[in-house]
Amino acid sequence: MFKHVEAYPGDPILTLNENFGADPRPHKINLSIGVYLNEAGKMPAMGAVLRAESALAADLGTRPYLPMEGNAAYRAAVRELTFGGAVPADRVAIAQTLGGSGALKVGADFIARYFPKAGVWVSDPTWDNHYSIFAGAGLPVQKYRYYDAATGHVDFPGMLAALEALPAGDVVLLHACCHNPTGADLDELQWRELAALVKRRGLLPFFDMAYQGFGKGVDEDAFAIRHFAAEGIPLFAATSFSKNFSLYGERCGSLSVVCADAREAGNVLGQLKATIRRNYSSPPTHGARIIARVLDDAALRAEWRAELEGMRTRVADMRAGLYEALRERRPDGDFGYLVKQTGMFSFTGLTPAEVERLREESAVYLVGSGRLCLAALTRRTIAPTADAMARVLGR
Ligand code: PMP
Repeated sequence: MFKHVEAYPGDPILTLNENFGADPRPHKINLSIGVYLNEAGKMPAMGAVLRAESALAADLGTRPYLPMEGNAAYRAAVRELTFGGAVPADRVAIAQTLGGSGALKVGADFIARYFPKAGVWVSDPTWDNHYSIFAGAGLPVQKYRYYDAATGHVDFPGMLAALEALPAGDVVLLHACCHNPTGADLDELQWRELAALVKRRGLLPFFDMAYQGFGKGVDEDAFAIRHFAAEGIPLFAATSFSKNFSLYGERCGSLSVVCADAREAGNVLGQLKATIRRNYSSPPTHGARIIARVLDDAALRAEWRAELEGMRTRVADMRAGLYEALRERRPDGDFGYLVKQTGMFSFTGLTPAEVERLREESAVYLVGSGRLCLAALTRRTIAPTADAMARVLGR
């Protein structure tokens, strides 16, 4: 019956992670998967999250199904965190989703149904799962010019030229902050210029914000979404709390759609609910209760923000540390990209063969594309990582 089912080659990043787990070398260093680790090399449990969870433990009670669109307090708090009042709440249709991935999937299914002729454009390069999710929903996915390997920055004129040529109504996927995999983001002036283009050309932006708080700060990282919304541009925004609440396995995210008015937002929310019903009926309860509790309580919210800020600055310190360590070892090399780029990742420019050598010779794991997760680096692993990279670059 199942003879025709071919073997799954595995997800490139998750498979690497499994291989890392099986690697017996004690000095191995995993800089592949996008998770934040603390100085002890451990995934942190955030203080505000633990406090909210113990408060909730006292009154867990029964566990009914949530509505299709999720927990109401969570949705209101997340709308505020995403938009910060840039657009009236009644114009935003928002649903709780299964992480950022779930938000992209619900959005992709909605687009396939209501914009069936739309092409979807993603940055070159982008997170691999963007292709799988949008193509999986039956939409054609193509790339727009984005990263310039020569400068380690965004080729902004190239990006503008590519988007200028798109047909009205096509969907443009934009990383709101902390671009994955390159760490190269637009600045505020560029976002403003892009918003003007998107508005003039009638494109439909789909923001993906999986790392809010890891770039410049919680509010700064939401600048693009808030600016586009304030400009009256209809848009989608997928958010994730996997990294910034360190709640990966709880699968917490949201999908917002900014609409022209409250009536439209009501209809769109209704169809998001229908999309969710067809996929998994309703989201889980636990993580959303924790997040709503943290965001609705001034003291817990302040604690969470301070802790996240500590994580953000730790990653920035790792960037600076690796940069210095590489410069010491290879004064001729250009490692400026490390300190220019933001967020959890940098694109090292290492070739797949060099990445393989890092893994084989030094047990340092990067993604084949050359993406390095700075958020998984610690003071202890900077030197061996720099040694290994310098060795590979030396030959
Ligand atoms: N978008 C991007 C760009 C990501 O890097 C990730 C997570 N790696 C996601 C979305 C998905 O987030 P989640 O893990 O919450 O599904």
